Amino acid sequence: IPLLEARGLVRSYGATPALRGVSLAVAEGEIVAVTGPSGCGKSTLLHCLAGILRPDAGEVTYRGRRIDTLSEADRSRLRRSELGVLFQFGQLVAELPAVENVALPLLLAGVSRRRARTAGLSWLERLGVADVADALPGEMSGGQRQRVALARALVTEPRLLFADEPTGALDTIAGEQVLSHLVRLAGEQGTTVVLVTHDPRVAGYAHREIALRDGQLDPTGLGLAVVGAP
Ligand code: ADP
Ligand code: ADP
Repeated sequence: IPLLEARGLVRSYGATPALRGVSLAVAEGEIVAVTGPSGCGKSTLLHCLAGILRPDAGEVTYRGRRIDTLSEADRSRLRRSELGVLFQFGQLVAELPAVENVALPLLLAGVSRRRARTAGLSWLERLGVADVADALPGEMSGGQRQRVALARALVTEPRLLFADEPTGALDTIAGEQVLSHLVRLAGEQGTTVVLVTHDPRVAGYAHREIALRDGQLDPTGLGLAVVGAP
């Protein structure tokens, strides 16, 4: 069975339809890019898949279990234990140095302060940003911030990582660094990745592309071609 599956997802905001019946399946270990122009429903789809937003209709299953019908408490437990999320602007805590930002999810999971800090440092090293361990987000470059945010998303070793325009706020070189780290680390750990992007170059890092248009899968896009699924 697929790791993640959506069937017939429908979601509107008031009178604005955002998803109009989207079905897809993601296999364990795949890196899938959801692409399409601004406003086509990518973020809404990602939020439904990640259990952040409830669809109006349709279902989402993770490892064969419905997750769209879970209570808010169960969904946030699942997000904490198995899922990671990386947003466009990293969303680091401005008052905390890099290493403490990365350690935060472990502290929330009950890991001791000392072990969380050690793990945080080792993840900063893996992402090549150990030199900013004690810097505040405001003191870092955009690319450094996003690599710290990626370290924080991976520190709990999620089975499934969602990334929403992970390079949207970065220049080309910084964006490529973040993506190559993401692809390498996901490969090393067997992490499945669903990323959303309007940028075809970003989609080039994925094994497979799913094209969205006006809230539906775009059958004319490259989305249905399996480029290099494992
Ligand atoms: P994308 O991520 O592809 O840009 P979104 O999922 O953000 O697309 O948006 C899909 C559609 O839903 C757009 O028409 C957008 O304006 C609308 N939309 C998204 N979020 C909201 C919201 N919170 N309130 C009202 N409309 C929204
Ligand atoms: P993106 O397309 O990169 O996801 P957007 O600019 O479409 O970013 O949306 C940013 C935020 O604003 C999201 O949380 C989205 O849900 C919300 N949003 C988007 N469109 C609308 C809208 N028409 N009305 C209200 N909120 C919206």
